[in-house]
Amino acid sequence: MSNRTYDIAVIPGDGIGKEVMPEGVRALEAAASRFGFSVRQQWHDFASCDYYARHGTMMPEDWKQRLGRPSALFFGAVGWPDTVPDHVSLWGSLLQFRREYDQYVNLRPVRLMEGVPCPLAGRKPGDIDFWVVRENTEGEYSSVGGRMFPGTAREIVLQETVMTRHGVDRILRFAFDLASKRPRKLLTSATKSNGIAITMPYWDERVEAISAEYPDVSHNKFHIDILTANFVLKPQIFDVVVGSNLFGDILSDLGPACAGTIGIAPSGNINPEGDHPSLFEPVHGSAPDIAGQNVANPIGQVWSAAMMLDHLGEADAAAAIMSAIETVLKEPGLRTRDLGGRASTTDCGKAIADAIRTA
Ligand code: ATP
Ligand code: MG
Repeated sequence: MSNRTYDIAVIPGDGIGKEVMPEGVRALEAAASRFGFSVRQQWHDFASCDYYARHGTMMPEDWKQRLGRPSALFFGAVGWPDTVPDHVSLWGSLLQFRREYDQYVNLRPVRLMEGVPCPLAGRKPGDIDFWVVRENTEGEYSSVGGRMFPGTAREIVLQETVMTRHGVDRILRFAFDLASKRPRKLLTSATKSNGIAITMPYWDERVEAISAEYPDVSHNKFHIDILTANFVLKPQIFDVVVGSNLFGDILSDLGPACAGTIGIAPSGNINPEGDHPSLFEPVHGSAPDIAGQNVANPIGQVWSAAMMLDHLGEADAAAAIMSAIETVLKEPGLRTRDLGGRASTTDCGKAIADAIRTA
């Protein structure tokens, strides 16, 4: 066994999560054998609605002990609305990991690849290639607030946005750092300081302050309204885009949608310092409408494996997975149904693993 060994907590979850996860793991194993590291897989059946049906909760009380100290969590998808309401399955699983492991960065690549139909007219691969960085722990999604005079004509409802110096600075540093490693070295900040008069000017101020630590990164800012329009109209102008919890939430769905099918997009919930494990998962959900048919596109899961390896320091292995994905997408006979092809989940996954081994 090589001295580079990673303990991966494998959590397939529900629906197509259980079908795409084996393909994600197949890619990991192929990359491990090619690049001389080892992956120790530890599979878990919790954080799923099946587990809920048997135990009445999404996860055991002692889930942290059961996970131990994994190098990373590799997650499929959660949710089965027929048996468990979405807010229960989500709060009981993914959001527990996010909070307990302080995964304060949500990271999503937006990249148009050959073989993927782009909803934006006239765009070619190469035109769209950027990252969305979302603050994942504070901001607009606070539970500070309440109702006054409920049920009366004077009813007033308030919800506070909470920004802390610690929370804002750490997400901005992550985003500037990512930009500094990219050829264009450009950071775009999402703001709305012309309308939100207290928190957003503070956000802008911290962008200026932190930018001083990154003299080789240039930065600009757009108000969220024109920024979303530009995702559609001028996606080529972006390199790394950073937003607060709410703005980042919107951008991190809009971005991957601009670059084609939801079936290929990956994401990371990251604790950059490595004090806690990070979690990598496809952007898509459990897709009950196509589950159990071996037709789901496994590329979102496989690309998540590449992000995970990159995070663990295996940049060459991550790059090999990416080029294998590109090779397979170019081949119409290896595309899944969502891309107009007829390949099964397993066909596509095996083809990617083969391409990784021979790349
Ligand atoms: P969430 O669970 O995040 O709330 P959702 O339940 O609204 O998401 P998904 O489960 O992602 O949505 O499914 C949305 C649509 O996209 C469905 O029609 C589903 O079949 C399709 N879809 C999702 N993932 C894939 C995939 N990997 N391959 C093919 N189609 C997919
Ligand atoms: Mg769902």
